[in-house]
Formats: sequence, structure tokens, C-alpha cells
Amino acid sequence: MFNKQYVMKINKIDNSRLNKIDPNDSPFGANISDHMLICDYENGKWGEPVIMPYGSMNYSPALMALHYGQAIFEGMKAYKDKNNEVFLFRPEKNFERFNESAKRLAMPQVPKEIFIDGLYALIDLDRDWIPTKPGISLYIRPVMFASEEMFSARISNKYTFAIMTSPAGNYYDKPLKIKIEDYYTRAVDGGVGFTKCAGNYGASFYPTFLANKEGFDQVIWTDSKNHAYFEESGTMNVMVRIGNTIFTPPTSTTILSGITRDSLINLAKYHNLDVKEERISVDNIVNAYQEGNLKEIFGCGTAVVISRYSHLGYKDTLMELPQLPDEESYAVFLKKQLVGIQTNEIDDPFGWRYKI
Ligand SMILES: *Cc1c(COP(=O)(O)O)cnc(C)c1O
Repeated sequence: MFNKQYVMKINKIDNSRLNKIDPNDSPFGANISDHMLICDYENGKWGEPVIMPYGSMNYSPALMALHYGQAIFEGMKAYKDKNNEVFLFRPEKNFERFNESAKRLAMPQVPKEIFIDGLYALIDLDRDWIPTKPGISLYIRPVMFASEEMFSARISNKYTFAIMTSPAGNYYDKPLKIKIEDYYTRAVDGGVGFTKCAGNYGASFYPTFLANKEGFDQVIWTDSKNHAYFEESGTMNVMVRIGNTIFTPPTSTTILSGITRDSLINLAKYHNLDVKEERISVDNIVNAYQEGNLKEIFGCGTAVVISRYSHLGYKDTLMELPQLPDEESYAVFLKKQLVGIQTNEIDDPFGWRYKI
């Protein structure tokens, strides 16, 4: 997939910050690696991508991204195996999704030679930043934002595309207490919920803050019309196991098409687990809980992989989920399979792993 002949302009740092930072012991997203890739778009075309030392850039507060919200990103990871070989996981999926987000936000498409080849060159250059401790990896953050500086509410004529990376410990590890959100909405039909646009996150912070104040770790977003169906869980897709069937809502304009979600569905099918892409109603969840059939609920996404839930709050009731032993949990099994493929510990029958 990668064009290894592609020559990227690289301006290396003089002194790596790795003498001060231990990638194996770095809070998620807190320390950004030595280099970043930058490419500017202007007058209808992309300039030359350059890899340079990570650092601040000069923009005025009139930056259009700040006013009108043309800002999108991606989240992916690079993994090291026991022999220090470096791998990406389904990077073309992130590339395609980035351009789908760009289209919806009326932003230019980023060419493969910039996104994929730039990613390759950047990860190769900063490979010493990739943690080696099991369970942690290097988080990769491609981003694009409107970089014209003026006040008209219109499509920007200038953009900056960047890729940064950061050592990533696992986000959450304890089972989470989740609130089923029955008032606020993350996404509406025909809106931008399926994109990774910055505004989606800004809009989710306040309801999440309120849920935190009530003692919950996260919210499960429900449909905007009736709050009757599960949509997503925080910034993750959601999966529910009722009996021995895994349910996850089909993707739509309100549900982001997670690469973790897709990979888990494929893995579940491969291992003969019953998995259904169907809407999940809150009523069904409550019934399954009362009948003792609600076995597991988990969120899935690149940052956390899988996050298991312990409690589910709905209106005035708190449902306590059974804590299955690891060997009976689908979440634990699927996470093991996925991480095994990502880190080159088990065979990859799907062709998902790409060596750098
Ligand atoms: C990024 C994201 C996900 C998960 O997508 P992955 O490709 O699995 O990382 C799910 N929901 C939302 C809202 C997201 O932003």
C-alpha cells in the first residue's frame, strides 16, 4: 500500500526529547513525539508536505476553524511487536474516513501520497517513540482545519493538514458506570455525527460533565427523536450482549463507522459468535436485564480498544451488570484477538496488519 520510493521533505530535530520522556510511562496523549507532518492547502491545491520538529505554529484568533468549525481529525495507532517491528492497523480505513469527514465539512480531499506516505515516513522517523510495553502503543492524530484568517461565514480557502503522534497508555481500565442519556443528543439524522469533526466532541462535553457529576463515567447516547435506541457510548461505538448474541446498532449519519467496531464484528463472525447489526432499544435492554439475559455491555474504539461496563443508569434506576469471569466474557475474548492481530502475536487472516 505504501509507496516507499516517495521522498518526503524531512527537517529533523537536533535533540530528541526521548532523553526526558519514557514512552512506556507516558499518560495518554500528554507527550507529543519529536516530529510532525505539515501540509498546507491554498488556491485549490496542496503544497509540499514537510516533516518538521513538533512545535507551535503562528495563527491569529481570526482563524476560521475557530469560528466556523471546519476541523476534523482521525485516531489510529502504531504497534511494536517483541522484535521491535512496527505495524499499522487498517490505515487505509482511517484515510478513507478522513476524506469522508472532509467531504461533509466542505473541506478538500487529502491525497494518499500526503496522508499515507506522510504517515509512513513520520512513523518510521519517530519509531523510537512507540512503546514496547504490552497493551500500549503510539497514538496517531491526523488533523485538518480551516486556516484562512477572516470573519466571513463561508467555506475557507486555506487549510492545514497535520499528523502528530503520542505514546498512548490505555485510557480506562476499570469497568465503567454508564448513564443512558435521555435528554441531550450527540447527533441528528442528516447531521455530522458520522464524521470525526471537532464540534461533535465540544457538544458532548457538557452532558458528559453533568453525568460525571451524577457519579457516572460516561453516557450512552440515544436517538435524538425519542431517546429510545442506543446510538454510541461516549466517543466509542457500543456493543451489547444479550444471552449469547452481540448486538450493535447499524451505522448511519448519527453513528460513526468505527474501525474497531467493524473489526470486532468480523472477528466475532470468524470465531462463530452470534453478532447482529440491529438497533438496540432501551426497553429491550431493561427487559433483558430484568430477565437476567443482559450479560455484557462494552464500548469500542481505537483509543481504549474495549471498555467494559459495570453499571447502567436509566432515569431513576441503576442496573448492575453481571461481572463475568474473563474466560466467559466476549469483550475479553475479542479484545485479546484484536490486540493479538495488531501487535503481531497471532495470525492475521484478514490482512489488517501493515508492517512499516
Ligand atoms: C473515533 C470514534 C469512534 C471509534 O472509531 P474507531 O475507528 O474504532 O477508533 C466511535 N465513535 C465516535 C463518535 C468516534 O469519534
